[in-house]
Amino acid sequence: MYMKGIRLVGLSLFFAGFVAFVITLGFGQYQLSSAIIEQTIKPEHRAIVQERTAFMNGRLYASNVAFIGDFEKAITGYNEEVRSRQEWDKVIYDDYAFDVTKAASLGVLQGSSWLWFWLSIGLATLGALVYITTGLRQLPGIKNNLLYRHPATDRGWIGIIVGAFLIGFYVVLYFYPEYLTNWVLLVDPISRSINGGAASRWFLYGFLYTLVIWVMGIRMLINYRHNRYQQVRTVSVIFFQTAFAFLIPEILTLLNQPYQDLKNIWPLDYTFFFDYRINEKIQAGGLGIFMLVWGTALSLVAVPVLTYFLGKRWYCSWVCGCGGLAETLGDPYRHLSDKRLAAWKIERWMVHSVLVFAVVMTLLVLYTYFSGQSTVLGFLDSYSVRSAYGFWIGSIFAGVVGTGFYPLMGNRVWCRFGCPLAAYIGLVQRFKSRFRITTNGGQCISCGNCSAYCEMGIDVRWYAQRGQDIVRASCVGCGICSAVCPRGVLKLELGPQKSRVIGEG
Ligand code: SF4
Ligand code: SF4
Repeated sequence: MYMKGIRLVGLSLFFAGFVAFVITLGFGQYQLSSAIIEQTIKPEHRAIVQERTAFMNGRLYASNVAFIGDFEKAITGYNEEVRSRQEWDKVIYDDYAFDVTKAASLGVLQGSSWLWFWLSIGLATLGALVYITTGLRQLPGIKNNLLYRHPATDRGWIGIIVGAFLIGFYVVLYFYPEYLTNWVLLVDPISRSINGGAASRWFLYGFLYTLVIWVMGIRMLINYRHNRYQQVRTVSVIFFQTAFAFLIPEILTLLNQPYQDLKNIWPLDYTFFFDYRINEKIQAGGLGIFMLVWGTALSLVAVPVLTYFLGKRWYCSWVCGCGGLAETLGDPYRHLSDKRLAAWKIERWMVHSVLVFAVVMTLLVLYTYFSGQSTVLGFLDSYSVRSAYGFWIGSIFAGVVGTGFYPLMGNRVWCRFGCPLAAYIGLVQRFKSRFRITTNGGQCISCGNCSAYCEMGIDVRWYAQRGQDIVRASCVGCGICSAVCPRGVLKLELGPQKSRVIGEG
């Protein structure tokens, strides 16, 4: 009863903060001025944008929807005119809507970002923590009660609403960021205190991503407080996300160095070899060259060597940001991963196809970089291939589907079906690694906990019943199968590669 009350308080605080967060999107008024055009538009486009948006100057807009609508109409109208005259060099390809909308914002948020920050993000975080800490009054470990009945964890209405929110968030973040300017303004003071500049949509994303990993990471630490492997692994993903993915790149920006997540490895970091990123590093001098060498060495040396000695888990379950989110925010959904043989077959085709796509795209990019030619074999345009990869794989698959589908398809949709780095590391783990999960088949009571909770859709019980080692390319070594086994059947082990017993699986 007491615990129920605290949970209710936590949920209420969370929802109050969440509702405040959502409604802040509609706050404020907007007003365009010549000074804003000067400040946000490139010199070559300033005159024409001034002319085309003159009708907006001084006009007070009560909503960002109306403001953005008028601004887009002005730019689209101009582009259509010059396109109809086939004056292609005059078309404005730059997307100015985000910067202009943010700069034109007046009213509530501009002067009171901190207040609204605490009333929305702060309150939601507090509520989530209050709710989560009630786990300390329960026994550690999994609770199977209603797992396949509850609307939040069995693709019910709560799961569908959460999925729709996540999908919507990613779509707006990637393709319509101008509608998120109020959320970006909320974190402006934090951005200024870390990197000295105003927040961008990517700062907002990095901040929320890190915060969610902290909050849901604390939940993992509480739920698995009896399991040392889970404790250390969770602290590791929180650390790498906070220091390497969030703080260090922001501090590099403050020092006028290239923005770089030093643990993000090609081909997951698919833009690593893009011309503008190579050039900015070379121009940055010593530190930039170090980043270039570091990133290349991580991909070509660290991945095979560390995977040989430790298995895929060193990256996918201990270091990676996508893995970090999957292991924390995605934990309540891990049982939704499809365990069928058909899913495994689709997974192998898809993930290795994305790896081939990433390799071909990067080779084309490097060819263009060194030769100055963008077309290969007379028909392959490296710029079109890279933008297709960026849209379909980098945005839609990794973001919209990868995270938005947690409550529908489990927490490792991207890692299983789309991540080219997971495919690369998986090949090393399958054919050249000391890592395996050993099974003491005689002890197995076929309860199925291990298979149910395997986020990579591996039917662990099938191996346990046969006393067979689990040596699978897809296993990320999260160790949850072992943590939830009531009989101590499963052990994540390292040993001579030759001694791994690889069966039919
Ligand atoms: S087999 Fe076990 S360690 Fe591997 S991904 Fe599945 S639950 Fe994690
Ligand atoms: S959780 Fe343990 S006992 Fe249950 S099926 Fe898996 S290996 Fe067997």
